[in-house]
Amino acid sequence: MKIIETESMFDREMGDIKVLPSHHLDLEGYGGLAFECGCKHAHSVSGRDGAQPLLTSPPVKILYRCPNGYLTFVHIKGLFRQTAVTLFSGKEEVAGGMFDAF
Ligand SMILES: [Zn+2]
Repeated sequence: MKIIETESMFDREMGDIKVLPSHHLDLEGYGGLAFECGCKHAHSVSGRDGAQPLLTSPPVKILYRCPNGYLTFVHIKGLFRQTAVTLFSGKEEVAGGMFDAF
């Protein structure tokens, strides 16, 4: 997992990402799958334990905001056996308020 510490690092990571609204994916379908977060906890991909999906990107990548104030970008891999790979994570401040209205 890459740790994002500054706004410019976050902008660079997000720069190449094709963004879709979070309802583009049915996250409930991922059941008990969890991802590793920058806050050192694991959160449910489904969002049931409080991690909020902010946006998605093809094929199956999701940016979450967790209850501990971290933004984490997760890639869900696999068709029959899925794994959630955390690509990067950082404190919410690195987004410079971009998701305050979400
Ligand atoms: Zn977290």
